[in-house]
Amino acid sequence: MRFETKAIHAGRQVDPVTGAVTTPLHLSTTYERAADGSYTDGFMYSRGDNPNRRSLEECLTALEEGHDCVAFSSGMAAISSVIEALPADMPQRIILPDDMYFGVLTLLNETDIGRRFEIVTANMSDPDELKAVVSEKAPGLFWIETPSNPQIKIIDIAAVAEIAKKAGAVTVVDNTTATPVLQNPLQLGADFSLHSVTKYIGGHSDLLLGAVVAKKDSRMLQNVRTWQHAKGAVPSSFDCWLALRGVQTLSARMSVHCQSARTIADFLNAHEKVETVFYPGLTGHPGHDIAASQMSDFGGLLSFKVKGNAEDALKIANTVKIFTQATSLGGTHSYIEHRASVEKELTKAPDTLLRLSIGLENADDLIEDLEQALAEI
Ligand SMILES: *Cc1c(COP(=O)(O)O)cnc(C)c1O
Repeated sequence: MRFETKAIHAGRQVDPVTGAVTTPLHLSTTYERAADGSYTDGFMYSRGDNPNRRSLEECLTALEEGHDCVAFSSGMAAISSVIEALPADMPQRIILPDDMYFGVLTLLNETDIGRRFEIVTANMSDPDELKAVVSEKAPGLFWIETPSNPQIKIIDIAAVAEIAKKAGAVTVVDNTTATPVLQNPLQLGADFSLHSVTKYIGGHSDLLLGAVVAKKDSRMLQNVRTWQHAKGAVPSSFDCWLALRGVQTLSARMSVHCQSARTIADFLNAHEKVETVFYPGLTGHPGHDIAASQMSDFGGLLSFKVKGNAEDALKIANTVKIFTQATSLGGTHSYIEHRASVEKELTKAPDTLLRLSIGLENADDLIEDLEQALAEI
């Protein structure tokens, strides 16, 4: 089956009890035990497993062409579980890119997880720098985020996965911004592909969920699975149900997100008050060729630097009318955000940078909105 068909059918069937075409929502936390000690369908207690979560995990496994998927109550719960699942006999050294989701930076800078591991930041677009990092001391894990959030940097997944494999390290890709429609990290050599399902897969800014898909069985995967029910950061049945509804339209939505983002990137690129546009679909973007080879389209997220200063950037965010000034991405509504003032001291985002998550509104309306806001600076 092709992607769109799997997105609608994988992990689901017509309900054998009622004939319902859409998956019923199962809210029961506990399941009846039979006289012989067994459980019909294997469900015992909903923290351990439940029908809606299992459907979602099976669907995401199929979409990422992986071996198994483990769902969590948020993207960050998935991220912290994967990092902590690194087997103790592997080098406790993690190589991270120089631009990535701010929550990961916070987790590593402000919690014990960060202090338990040796954290190394590298420019992952530079293979020579990566080789130097590897020869200095053996790594246990390479963390990739591409396109990165918020600076939209591109990392060559196959190249980094190969360096990692040679060094005996595991590769994890945060595939949130690309989505499984546009990019398949497991086919490019990564061991785990991870999502904030909250974003494009959910797609409507109304659920919080994370998921990790593994390419094959491993001790690390077993750890992640045990973490899920033992630590208990599990998603609710309702959030799984919403994610299963959202994923059915993922491919259709991504086409519009990508097409509108490209149109808006072109508009901004030609605008006199814009200094730089960061969108991998632009031929001038330093990661354009790699993005073109490892992605089927360039995504719905872009950033740009305003000519001027931080106040000018904030003024635009405060002047737009259709864009909502809000954090997050991947929803039907378009969002604009000044990351530097949100991230504060730890930020690596330039203070004239604005991030746009292009929603499903008409692109001409979005362009007119940006145009009137840019006229105010
Ligand atoms: C939002 C996001 C996360 C965190 O996900 P939550 O569901 O908010 O916990 C991780 N990575 C990326 C790239 C994100 O955009």
